[in-house]
Amino acid sequence: MTEPWLRPDWELPDTVQSIVTTRDGGVSEAPYGALNVATHVADQPAHVAENRRRLETLAELPASPLWLQQVHGTRVLLADANSAREQQADAVYTRDRHCVLTIMTADCLPILLCSADGEEIAAVHAGWQGLAGNIINKAVARFSATKISAWLGPAIGPCHYEVDERVRSRFDSDFGFGPGKDRGHWMLDLFAVARRQLADAGVESIAGGGCCTYCDSRFYSYRRDGQTGRFATLIWRR
Ligand SMILES: [Zn+2]
Repeated sequence: MTEPWLRPDWELPDTVQSIVTTRDGGVSEAPYGALNVATHVADQPAHVAENRRRLETLAELPASPLWLQQVHGTRVLLADANSAREQQADAVYTRDRHCVLTIMTADCLPILLCSADGEEIAAVHAGWQGLAGNIINKAVARFSATKISAWLGPAIGPCHYEVDERVRSRFDSDFGFGPGKDRGHWMLDLFAVARRQLADAGVESIAGGGCCTYCDSRFYSYRRDGQTGRFATLIWRR
């Protein structure tokens, strides 16, 4: 059977694994079909539970994913195997081998981080609010290691992500903002902004990015579909 998820291609030690789920491989019905992993989008709880169970089993995860309650904030949770589930945070860091870090998205940008020695990992939920609040810098600051690699997952691209002055005004510069369809609107490139912020934080190896969730129907997209599910981006130590 082909795996219903993707394996990110980036500079990752053998002792660390990462995957990104797609819409395939689950039991949820329209408009959530099929592998929705989110409990907060009004999908049937039994379907979400079964989807999460399948993910844990088929991906041979060493533990249940540490699901967060993502709130578009900038809190970085320092997690271990005993951390409570569903904590409010938009980034999570661990050194623990039994801790599966997970970010749920449907247009926002998921980012994975890993130290060169594979002993420290993190996952970040970076929508425009997280980026404007420097969540990347806060997550990178948790690392003891100085050599860190990053991977940018699927997110709504500059081809489809139009924002207004309310968003633009929250950023220090117009870097990553292209012209929109009229005055007062811009096309925001989350990937470009994230790459620059990662570089500013000292991360030299940056891969991924450029896969637009709105364009690519393998993924959930809130802007494309409105009521829909969420896919997961996961990283763990083996
Ligand atoms: Zn697009």
